[in-house]
Amino acid sequence: MDILVTGGAGFIGGHLAERFVRDGHDVVVLDNFDPYYDRRLKEHNVKVAREATEASEGTYELVEGDVRDENLVADLVGGVDYVYHQAAQAGVRANIEPRKYHTVNVDGTLNVLDAARETDLERIVFASSSSVYGKARYLPYDEAHVTEPVSPYGASKLAAERYGLVYGDRYDVPFVSLRYFTVYGPRMRPNMAISNFVSRCTNGDPPEIYGDGSKTRDFTYIEDVLDANRTLLHEDAADGEILNIGSTDTISIERLAETVRDELAPDLDIVYSEGYDIDAEHTHADISKASELLGYEPSRTIEEGVREFIAWYRDNRAWYEPLVRGE
Ligand code: NAD
Repeated sequence: MDILVTGGAGFIGGHLAERFVRDGHDVVVLDNFDPYYDRRLKEHNVKVAREATEASEGTYELVEGDVRDENLVADLVGGVDYVYHQAAQAGVRANIEPRKYHTVNVDGTLNVLDAARETDLERIVFASSSSVYGKARYLPYDEAHVTEPVSPYGASKLAAERYGLVYGDRYDVPFVSLRYFTVYGPRMRPNMAISNFVSRCTNGDPPEIYGDGSKTRDFTYIEDVLDANRTLLHEDAADGEILNIGSTDTISIERLAETVRDELAPDLDIVYSEGYDIDAEHTHADISKASELLGYEPSRTIEEGVREFIAWYRDNRAWYEPLVRGE
């Protein structure tokens, strides 16, 4: 298969590109190396995926460019069978201008969708987010839960997702939306809670929580996200659907910090700083639809996943830690 992974130098896109190459597919990555976090991590992701061609029939091509470039996107989409659309201004941050979320996440997605109208794509798989739900009316959220995002990021993801479904109905663009719940694992974005806690505890610094740590999150291991995406290469039962991709194993941020601390530096006290996060208080996925349509099952508890991440961190500390610490 020929597969375009937009945002393929990023965390999830980088893993997808690598895995697709390993599986023997021909992968094209579109990424503009947005400076949201350190470019060196994205270059590492590219290197890993490129190296995967050595042990596989698969091929890898990097196009450094912008998903907001309509002509470029049309060219790339026209040459493939599948699009895994990950390119986005990711993360819920108060210090990013709402319009940036809009232009990258909504206009960028419209470029992909418009290009798809002109071609014979097998499928677009869109990286949506639990942030589209906003304040929980009930938990776990199923896909029918009301969508009232509380952040510009969530609003942009919801708008992009709705466009995808409308293009599916009106223009027969095969579109599936996967709502990811806080994804973590090796090579994760350096500005996420788990990588920060692990880095600090490894260095004997107390883990630092923004806010009081009472927020709860449904953390999803990267391997499970890869499995769901790979199933969509041969499964059309989810076309036109929205699917939650979570772990169902929720944990408070405070308990998460304690879990990391207990593994790495049991004597440290947790410190609390002023919160800056503008996302929902709690997330928790009902994954029954993904289980039914894709056979999706989470593979790890959060404790198991954190231990695996710590083992990976130890092996990769020399190059990864400076990125987390902003050095
Ligand atoms: P990431 O920031 O690591 O990856 C996004 C990639 O998109 C980056 O490499 C970035 O350079 C690229 N990009 C940004 N703007 C671009 C542009 N204008 N043109 C081309 N490329 C551009 O983030 P991630 O964690 O890998 O997230 C991947 C996708 O999954 C995103 O769409 C994100 O919204 C979604 N998502 C992630 C999570 C999570 O917990 N990681 C949760 C829910 C949804």
